[in-house]
Amino acid sequence: MPGRGTIEVMANAWIEIDQRALRANAESLRSLLDPATQLLGVVKSNAYGHGLAVVVPLLDSLVDFFGVDDFEEAVAVRALSAKPVLILNPLAADAAEATVCRGFHQMVSSLEDIDTLAVAAEAVGTPAHVHLKVDTGMSRQGFPVGDFLVHLHEIVSREHIAIAGIATHFANADVPGDSSVAMQHEQFRRVLDQVHAMGLRGIRHAANSAATILEPDTHYDLVRCGIALYGIWPDQAVLQAAPRLAVRPRVSGISLEPVLQFRTRISLIKEVAQGEGVGYGLTKRFERSSRIALLPIGYGDGYSRTLSNISEVLIRGQRAPVVGRISMNLTTVDITDLPEVSVGDTVTLLGRSGKQEIAVEELAQRTGTIPYEIVTALPRHLPRVII
Ligand SMILES: *Cc1c(COP(=O)(O)O)cnc(C)c1O
Repeated sequence: MPGRGTIEVMANAWIEIDQRALRANAESLRSLLDPATQLLGVVKSNAYGHGLAVVVPLLDSLVDFFGVDDFEEAVAVRALSAKPVLILNPLAADAAEATVCRGFHQMVSSLEDIDTLAVAAEAVGTPAHVHLKVDTGMSRQGFPVGDFLVHLHEIVSREHIAIAGIATHFANADVPGDSSVAMQHEQFRRVLDQVHAMGLRGIRHAANSAATILEPDTHYDLVRCGIALYGIWPDQAVLQAAPRLAVRPRVSGISLEPVLQFRTRISLIKEVAQGEGVGYGLTKRFERSSRIALLPIGYGDGYSRTLSNISEVLIRGQRAPVVGRISMNLTTVDITDLPEVSVGDTVTLLGRSGKQEIAVEELAQRTGTIPYEIVTALPRHLPRVII
């Protein structure tokens, strides 16, 4: 069939996962680390929309740890990998026993969660592996730094609790040189000194992708990388600051390549007369007689309605504008200037086609959001194909 290329999927739209790019990104991040520092691959939100079932086996030999949102995701990872799994987000009390039983590590931010896990661990007969999160200034998860040492003495004396890690998270690591990062880091350093003085030896970790790239001093024993693994810069400012780091010791420079392509096929082409409108609300009126292509995807498939009339897609390596409102499962594009285009042609919504690219940053910018939200909005029903 025309335009189908080598991909065989029986769906109107699909996501291609470039395994070479994923590997290259993991290796590039690894090259920033001391050999003793572990790399945790964050695969929450269905591996940032890339598809957990596809991404975990590909990353399995490249990371030391997996980080997930919740118990359900931890179970899904465990079915695909024997690597340790850290649940990053709050403990669901109902899942405490199963979490301990399966040996998942749990990030903990309160004494209540310690109690819940201790009770579960006693019932199960095996210790709970906890990573104590310290709130060094983000005011989200974590023990407030002021209370932490008091709590720590209590936690250390609890039976059935194994302190596997001490962690914090930066609010502004994607802003190069931001003073809050240095302040949070200083708080964390103080906590670690005290922890060390008590003779505790957990895995120390703080860095997300941005801190991994920009702040080598925050690497400690493990870094938690999500967005960069998928070849997306945490922020354009991080990309601009990164080359300057190449001269710093230990940082050997980093390059990232997008891992994901989001594609569909033209299902119908029609001619419309000058003055006619298209889509709900007839928000687009044609100023000339035009040729439009119907795409069998919409906001229900992860192509945001806020892109109506403002985004572009790629067909045969050329840009075509989205015209009219995006529907739940349908989108129309103007192909008047692309006469060679035909039904069945592959359409790239995100990614490369020929020399052109629609980067996730482009869609994020057009809709006033961040790349993280664009990729995590890609729904589970889209097939993921490894290329
Ligand atoms: C999501 C998450 C990360 C990964 O952040 P990126 O910016 O995607 O690298 C790291 N740590 C924690 C605690 C997270 O929740």
